[in-house]
Amino acid sequence: MPEGPSILLLKENLMNFVCHQVTSASGNAKFDKDWLPEEVLVDIKTFGKQLYLLFEKVAIRIHLLMFGSYSVNEQTKPEKSLRLRIDFDAGSLFFYTCSAKLVDKSFLEKIDWEADVMSEAWNPKKAKKKLRSLPLAMVCDVLLDQNIFSGVGNIIKNEVLFRIAVHPESLIGNLPTKKVDELIAEARQYSFDFLNWKRDYVLKKHWLVHTKSTCPKCGEKLIRKHLGKTNRRCFYCLQDQKLY
Ligand SMILES: [Zn+2]
Repeated sequence: MPEGPSILLLKENLMNFVCHQVTSASGNAKFDKDWLPEEVLVDIKTFGKQLYLLFEKVAIRIHLLMFGSYSVNEQTKPEKSLRLRIDFDAGSLFFYTCSAKLVDKSFLEKIDWEADVMSEAWNPKKAKKKLRSLPLAMVCDVLLDQNIFSGVGNIIKNEVLFRIAVHPESLIGNLPTKKVDELIAEARQYSFDFLNWKRDYVLKKHWLVHTKSTCPKCGEKLIRKHLGKTNRRCFYCLQDQKLY
């Protein structure tokens, strides 16, 4: 599943379409597309793993889910996976195997932008408050909670926990304040490192534990287990990551 930084890159790649007019729209997304021709794409926003294409009165929300993808100017996937095609006077946009929904503008006003780890509005104090209300939650679950760390996905989760030397099954309530602060700071910092590495096509080269078998610090075998309520894959080192 694409994580927050990948969605920011997607936005960057599509910014050329802003201020351009739609000429036609099609695809099997289940909403009416007849209103789209002659509309102008006003802006593009992201919230965590979601992308919003903003038009005058409504927005289209794109969520790439597990297997979603997109292409520009050229259709690269078969018709049956094509959820949405938007032709502009400046080129064409294609979204495949994703969730594409219409939302009205008031929906955007209700979004807690301060929960997006990559946003300028990101509010670490608020994140800390949310964490304090979940003392019995495991760190591997809270990092994936999109209401607290919007944009963080499984890769970021595994790498952040290794960076801060915390075992994924640690309970939030048991973490020293210093570790909670590190968790919050690294959720954002790693997301920007991810963005820069991905932009340079060197992201995987920088993974220290995600999908790896040996610890880069101590050389011991890494543990690979599905953990927490989220039951997502964790990669961690028993020597270097403390269980709180
Ligand atoms: Zn180790």
